[in-house]
Amino acid sequence: MDFDELEKYRTGKSEDGHDQFSVPIKPDEDGLLGRECSNEDCETKYFKISLEVDDAYGKEIEDFSQLELTCPYCGNADNMQHLHTTEQIEWIKSMMMRGIHKTFQNIMARSFPKRPKPKGGMFSISMEFQPGTLPSVRHYAEEKLKQEVVCDRCRFRYAIYGVSFHCPLCSAGNILQHLERSAETIRILISESARIGSEHGQKVAQAMLGNALEDVVGLFEGFLKYAYQYAIRKSSSKEDADKLIQKIRTNFQRLSGAEEIFRRDLSIEIFYGLDAVERDALEIAFAKRHVLTHNLGLIDAKFKIKAQTWNRVSSELEIEADEIKRSLETVRKVVAHVLSEIVPT
Ligand SMILES: [Zn+2]
Ligand SMILES: [Zn+2]
Repeated sequence: MDFDELEKYRTGKSEDGHDQFSVPIKPDEDGLLGRECSNEDCETKYFKISLEVDDAYGKEIEDFSQLELTCPYCGNADNMQHLHTTEQIEWIKSMMMRGIHKTFQNIMARSFPKRPKPKGGMFSISMEFQPGTLPSVRHYAEEKLKQEVVCDRCRFRYAIYGVSFHCPLCSAGNILQHLERSAETIRILISESARIGSEHGQKVAQAMLGNALEDVVGLFEGFLKYAYQYAIRKSSSKEDADKLIQKIRTNFQRLSGAEEIFRRDLSIEIFYGLDAVERDALEIAFAKRHVLTHNLGLIDAKFKIKAQTWNRVSSELEIEADEIKRSLETVRKVVAHVLSEIVPT
């Protein structure tokens, strides 16, 4: 694009007499275009959208460029044209500045043509205009985002940081998709542990199961954290929300810690629908993960009491694939319930 030809993007004047330009912004190599949420309190803001829409959904769209998009992180809806990223605006501004400078230089050059200096006589002022260096046009590129998502409902493709709560196009609650994908990864780890064990020995298989258990706790902690942040930012001022979010710390690594915080701040019973057996089994699985992470996988006195086990203190913890599978399904159930309370699907 020749930036000095900004003129060709001029589309006329607005009602209040301002010049209007329409500058095309190209998508990146993956066909995605950056957008930034217009809600000031939105934490993440930046996401990317495809410029293509699935036929089934696209038929109802009259003008894609004027669509209302939903922020995948906070759910704020706004016209696509209000969601330019800071980078895109800076890029266009720098292009405008260069255009303005160039026009100004041309005017100055025309106003003060070079002429021979007058020789004495009358009092005169001689002026010469030296065109300066033009301001450069800012570099502009879209950020790399790891998570690419295709909406289950409308098949729209977009990219985000971490997890999204909404599809930008159809606004459907999409976070369950992320939960299912993460759960599936852990299921694969668990089932692969048997094969790895037969090839490399039981110790390696146990280590793999230990990692899978860590991931189950991570799934619980991570998704509840996102869910809590989403809900608390909707119901509190930014200042209050920031304070409450800071207080989470590692509380969501414990079932009772998460339970109390959700009950107190959001009136949500996170273990609704879980029976006592499921809850107890989950408590033990979480305690096992604690032993693995903080005590080299050797049973300590606290665990012995909690799990009411006959195993000796300092003996090695045993982890079974079925137990982790069950914990994963319970965690999935709990997180899905919390998400259904928080995000409309
Ligand atoms: Zn947002
Ligand atoms: Zn969608």
